[in-house]
Amino acid sequence: MKNPISNDKPRRNFIKKSAMGIGGISIGLPLTSALAADKYTQTKKLGVALVGLGNYATNQLAPALQETAHCYLAGIVTGTKSKEKVWMDKHNIPKKNVYNYDNFEEIANNKDIDIIYVVLPNSMHAEYSIKAAKAGKHVICEKPMAVSVEECEAMIKACKENKVKLSIGYRLHFDPYHKEIIKLSKEGSFGKVTYVSSQFGFTIGDPTQWRLKKALAGGGALMDVGIYCIQAARYAYGEEPIALQAQEFRSGSEKFREVDETVSWQMEFPDGKISNSTTSYAFGTNHLVVTAQKARAVIMPAYSYNGLGGIFNNEKLEFPRINQQALQMDDFAKNVVANTESKISGEEGLKDMKVLEAIYKSLASGGKRVTI
Ligand code: NDP
Repeated sequence: MKNPISNDKPRRNFIKKSAMGIGGISIGLPLTSALAADKYTQTKKLGVALVGLGNYATNQLAPALQETAHCYLAGIVTGTKSKEKVWMDKHNIPKKNVYNYDNFEEIANNKDIDIIYVVLPNSMHAEYSIKAAKAGKHVICEKPMAVSVEECEAMIKACKENKVKLSIGYRLHFDPYHKEIIKLSKEGSFGKVTYVSSQFGFTIGDPTQWRLKKALAGGGALMDVGIYCIQAARYAYGEEPIALQAQEFRSGSEKFREVDETVSWQMEFPDGKISNSTTSYAFGTNHLVVTAQKARAVIMPAYSYNGLGGIFNNEKLEFPRINQQALQMDDFAKNVVANTESKISGEEGLKDMKVLEAIYKSLASGGKRVTI
C-alpha cells in the first residue's frame, strides 16, 4: 500500500501558484513540529490502543492504522465482550492487549502500548484521557476534547504531570485543502484574511443515541460538528476570537429535548473582523468560505473524511486523495519520538472549549454578546 505521507503533494497548490503569479514571497513555511518530525529516523512503529470501538474507531481509525508508517493498532479497550474476538481476529491483536473499562489501568504494564486513543462519548473523554496519562501512555483524544473548560484543563495538567504528550483528533490539519487555508492566512501572499463563513450540519438519525443525551454528549450539534467551524475560523484567521453572540433554533422535535438542534453564531476577531457559522442536527450543510484581500477560497464539502473539493478565485482546487487519520496519527507518533508538541495539542482543544462555553453562555442569555 502507498505510504500516505509521500502522497501529500497537491496537484494544484493555490498559495504557491498564485504567489509566483503576483511575485509574492516564498511559500510552504514548515511548522515547528514538522521541522523536528522531518529528522525522524525511528524504525519501530509505536503501538496504539483504541478505547471505545464504535463507528469512528471501526470505520475510520482502524483502517487508517493499516496505512500508517509510524504507528500500528496494537491493542483495544472495549466494554462489549463480543467485539473482542472480532477485533483480535481482524487486526491480529493478542489477547494480552485487550482491555475493558474495569481493568483499563492495567494497561500501564503493557509495553506494546505507547499511545492510547480515546474514541468514547464526549463526557468520558476526560476520565479516560487522565487514566491513560496516569498509566504513563501518550494520549490522543477525540473532539470535542471534553465537555467543559475545567475538564480540558485537568487533562492538560494530568498529561504534563505524567510527562506524556496530548493531542486532539483534529484530522483536518492534515488535509491538503485545510493546509492551504492555514497557509493562506500565514503567508499573507493574498493580503489579510478579511472574512470567514462556515457551516457544518447533518440530519441525525436514531433518537436513542448518546449524541442526543446531554450527560454523555455535553451538548448537541454545536459540540459535535459546530466545533469544526470554530476551529476553521481560528486557523483561517490565525487569531483568537475576542467576543461572540449566538442564536438557537428549535423545531420542537422530542429528539432535541436535551441538546441543541440548530445554532448560529458570529465571532468577533481583532480589528473588527468577523466569522459567521451555523451548525445543525436537522439538516446537512458542509462548507468553508475564506475571503482574503486579494482572493477567495471556497471549500465544499469542507469537513468530510475525503472527497473534499474547492475553488480558489476562479480555479478549481484538486489534491490527491490522502488519509487524514493516518497522517494525523503518524504525526503524533513522530511528536512522541522527537519529543515535540503536537500542533493539535490539548491547548488547541481547550481554546475551542472556551469558545463553546461562550456560545452556550450567549444562548442562555437569549443571544447577548459574550467576551471570551
Ligand atoms: P459511537 O457511538 O459509534 O461509539 C462510541 C463507543 O464508545 C461505543 O461503541 C462503545 O464502544 C463506547 N462506549 C462506552 N460507553 C458508552 C456509552 N455509555 N454509550 C455509548 N457508547 C459507549 O460513537 P462515534 O464513534 O461516532 O464517536 C466517538 C467519539 O469520536 C466522539 O467523541 C465523537 O465526537 C468522535 N468522532 C470524531 C470524528 C472525527 O472526525 N474526528 C468522527 C466521528 C466521531 P465499546 O462497545 O467498544 O465499549
